[in-house]
Parts: sequence; structure tokens; C-alpha cells
Amino acid sequence: MIVAIDGPAASGKGTLARRLAVYLNLPHLDTGLLYRATARTLIEHGQNLTDVRAAVAAARGLSLTDFDPRLLRGRDMGEAASIVAAIPEVRQALVDLQRDFAARPGGAVLDGRDIGTVICPHAEVKIYVTATPETRATRRALELKSQGEMVDYPAILDEIRRRDARDASRATAPLRPATDAVELDTTDLDIEAAFNKALAIVEAGKERHSFNN
Ligand code: C5P
Repeated sequence: MIVAIDGPAASGKGTLARRLAVYLNLPHLDTGLLYRATARTLIEHGQNLTDVRAAVAAARGLSLTDFDPRLLRGRDMGEAASIVAAIPEVRQALVDLQRDFAARPGGAVLDGRDIGTVICPHAEVKIYVTATPETRATRRALELKSQGEMVDYPAILDEIRRRDARDASRATAPLRPATDAVELDTTDLDIEAAFNKALAIVEAGKERHSFNN
């Protein structure tokens, strides 16, 4: 069974995907890390984030085993990732890696922006996770505060809006729900409630596709 989870920055999709994967005993791929790692490689080599040739080479050179999520999850890398993610050739270079992961025996959980629309259009379960930009900015601010970082709420909200706009307006694989995705608005839900709703969506998907484990 393939579970595709998409949604904007800080919607809670990553946490939901991780928890669902553990619950379902499936491997999980946070596809945002691929774009973040591509951006980081360019920055490390002093290359421009809009240099198509260098960005494609960086994307092609990625392997799922050499990620250090701690180095990739920062705010600045999220912004840089959304710049390289708008390059169609970079997206193309990362398709096989993601589809191969999804094709593992037993299935997988993938989260990102275009899993249900482009990477795994035949996924048995598709969830589109949303929350208002204000809620997402508050969550991000609390997360950063708990890590001891200085928090500038207006700047975080501004960054979230900018990233939403860039991800939704790009020509290739823009952020949008697949027509057959179930929307899960987490604005008024805590993580437990959101997880229970996500689980109900998975169970319904399983039933539709007659999975019995
Ligand atoms: O999910 P995360 O915040 O780590 O993603 C970073 C950026 O990578 C996103 O803002 C988006 O531009 C890009 N991305 C994407 N497609 C995906 C996953 C992430 O375009 N499947």
C-alpha cells in the first residue's frame, strides 16, 4: 500500500507521515529532504541555486543513505529548497528515486508536495494536509523556541506565505491536492486528533482497495 501525504510547509504532514509509517510498519520518505539536500550541495559548492546544470547534477548525485536530516531541516534550507524545486529538470531528476522507494515490497509512506499528483498518482491512500498560515507559523515558532532559537513570528509567517506562493505557482508539479485526495485540515486539531483522522482516512483507503493487513 502506498500512502501519499502532501501539503504546505509546517502543515503537520511530516509528523503525520512519520507516525503513520511507524503504525503501519512501512518505510517513510520525507521527499522535502531531497530538495533540501540538492540545495545544500549547491550552497556547499558555492553554486547558484538557479544554475540548472549544477542543480541537476546535485540532484542526480543524491543517495538516500547519505542524508543528515539535522543539517537539512533548518529554515534557510527550506527556502533554498523551494528555489531548486521550481526547476523542472531537478524535479525530473528526482522522480525515479522517489518511485523506486514507493515500489518497495509492502509499500511505503511518502510526504511532499506532489506525491499524490505526480510521483504516485496511483497511491491507494492520498491525504492533503492543510492548516491556516497563521496556525502553521505559530507551530513553527513554538518548534524553533523549543530548540532554543530566537523567534520572530512575523518573519516566520512571511516566510511561510512566500514558500506557499512559490510552491503553488510554479509551472511544474505545483502544490495542489490530487483530485482524489482526502483533505485533512489540522488548524483546530492537536497531533493526536490529526493522527486519528489520518488513520481513519488510511483505513477507508485500505477498505476501498481491499487490503487486509
Ligand atoms: O517539506 P519541506 O518543507 O521539507 O520541503 C522543502 C521545499 O521542497 C518545499 O517548500 C518545496 O518547494 C520543495 N518540495 C517539493 N516537492 C516535494 C517536497 C518538497 O517541491 N515533494
